Amino acid sequence: MAENEQTLGFQTEVKQLLHLMVHSLYSNREIFLRELISNSNDACDKLRFLALDDSELMAGDTDLVVRIEIDPETKELVISDTGIGMTRDEVVQNLGTIAKSGTADFLKNLSGDTKSDANLIGQFGVGFYSAFIVADRVVVRTRRAGADAAEAVEWSSEGDGQYTIKTIGRETRGTEIRMSLKEDASEFGESYRIRHLVTKYSDHVSIPVFLLSDSKSDVDTETVSEWEQVNQATALWTRPRNDVSDEEYTEFYKHVAHDFEDPMAWSHHKVEGKTDYTGLLYLPARAPFDLWNRESPRGLKLYVQRVFIMDRAEEFLPLYLRFIRGVVDSADLSLNVSREILQKDARVESMKSAVTRRALDMLAKLAKDDPEKYQKFWNIFGECLKEGPAEDQQNKERITKLLRFTSTVTQDAKQTVSIEDYIGRLVDEQKAIYYLVSESHTNALGSPYLEALKKRGIEVLLLSDRIDEWLMGYLNSYKEYQFVDVTRDGLELPGESGGDDKEEKEQSKEHKALFERMKDALVDQVSDVKPSVRLTDSAAVLILTEQDMGPQMRQIMEAAGQPMPVSKPILEVNAEHGLLKRLEVETDDDRFGELARLVYDHAQLGAEGKLEDAPGYLRRVNALLSELAR
Ligand code: ADP
Repeated sequence: MAENEQTLGFQTEVKQLLHLMVHSLYSNREIFLRELISNSNDACDKLRFLALDDSELMAGDTDLVVRIEIDPETKELVISDTGIGMTRDEVVQNLGTIAKSGTADFLKNLSGDTKSDANLIGQFGVGFYSAFIVADRVVVRTRRAGADAAEAVEWSSEGDGQYTIKTIGRETRGTEIRMSLKEDASEFGESYRIRHLVTKYSDHVSIPVFLLSDSKSDVDTETVSEWEQVNQATALWTRPRNDVSDEEYTEFYKHVAHDFEDPMAWSHHKVEGKTDYTGLLYLPARAPFDLWNRESPRGLKLYVQRVFIMDRAEEFLPLYLRFIRGVVDSADLSLNVSREILQKDARVESMKSAVTRRALDMLAKLAKDDPEKYQKFWNIFGECLKEGPAEDQQNKERITKLLRFTSTVTQDAKQTVSIEDYIGRLVDEQKAIYYLVSESHTNALGSPYLEALKKRGIEVLLLSDRIDEWLMGYLNSYKEYQFVDVTRDGLELPGESGGDDKEEKEQSKEHKALFERMKDALVDQVSDVKPSVRLTDSAAVLILTEQDMGPQMRQIMEAAGQPMPVSKPILEVNAEHGLLKRLEVETDDDRFGELARLVYDHAQLGAEGKLEDAPGYLRRVNALLSELAR
């Protein structure tokens, strides 16, 4: 073994990923070519960027190109580039480990079922390792730009758990990837096949891709080989929209996002004004595996005057739109812009609001033109979008219009009702958008709080995602309509507020003694007992005042280790209910107390879906049942 040669094991995650990829991506295996060309393109982009500061890095060869050839002797497929290259440490880091956080957890979710795993792998992005789908041996030779010719590195592996790395000499900078094709992948050793794939997948990458192919010269019949450029090599986003086909947009997305599924929608725009920029935004058709990991990289690829500056610049989109992928190319930022500068630059701030608007417009257009597709989007990314009203006050109305809810009209658990749908179904004199937050859809549907509204044919939005109570804290109104929580004190129903007050007062008077007695019996549980406007069938409900924290929010806060002060709810009762009538005539104080508590228990069950004193409740119900049986 040469002195500087080392054999190292792959990180466990890499081993798992390799195994999986080879088995689950078989039917999709041609994507390896796109992945490798993408990497080469990025390597050239990075070098061009670094050379802005240090032109020495490009010394000797200013061409940035990708070359593909098929070794006539060995039939190996070789992809090389004149990009940035890698040092030995970088090779170990990049081609021996996976740097994405959350990878181990992600891999645990894989089932071993080829089809569903293929889908999951797509969320993950496969990259360099996809070479092993078609090759049983991969050799990488690379020299970092600026490094000595004697300090190049050779990495080789059979994808079986380990790799070997050694220092070699290499005349040129950049990276070469040499693949010994598997027997059943020999099609990738044919230049016509490669040419076809490059035009299909990589036409739009901005670095020229050359293919070494055989051609018969005119003069004699001898075969000569020549380099032929096989892609257009103009950055796609710089072309006029009319010139770009849907297929090209789609392929470019796959390149940018390392996804092999088609995007759901895109928006390509050139903006001239306060800041000049071109944006190409994409809506993916699936969530990345780390969508809920706040630390994961997100954002757009940033270019300045067509020069690549950085991957995943997060300064151009708000967090709630973190699933959007794509490119921004600024005409007026400086080429040596850094992350620190991005965070402070006022032009970036104004680009961000423009890009955000475009992204929201793209979603609105999708919702209008293709509601079915929009529904698919909503099912995948809806919860992200629900962070919007809190994060982005400026676009609150636009975001609210994009939200989808379940409601008492549609009944089923699918979130399909928009605010505009709701407004189209308002009853006479209705000025409010009524909603109910509950911990499950089933609980919401059967909730006693809905009784009076249902009776009057008033639609109620039903919310049961974890984030919903928090979301509703930020949604106060939409156009001229107020959002109203049906479980809160002071509920007014359309056209009846005055009348209700009167009825309430009369009921209060009529049953004053009962309410006072109940209040005394439940002094530890409730702050007040009042007649209800919202009940028709149930005996009682618990009502919170405007200022109180709802049960869902309380649970979230307490789960996060933050105990919340308890404020006692109001018990609203339906004095017409049999149980209340029974209470009204009860003379025995103990029995009154037990029955009153039962009314409270039921109200709590209706409000929170659970009881704070389940054993006591069972005892009370048992006593009642045995009395019935007697
Ligand atoms: P990703 O591209 O998603 O980061 P990859 O597995 O494809 O993941 O590549 C890992 C890293 O290896 C890249 O981020 C890059 O730093 C490096 N790399 C891959 N291919 C090349 C190349 N042709 N030239 C220079 N660096 C490369």
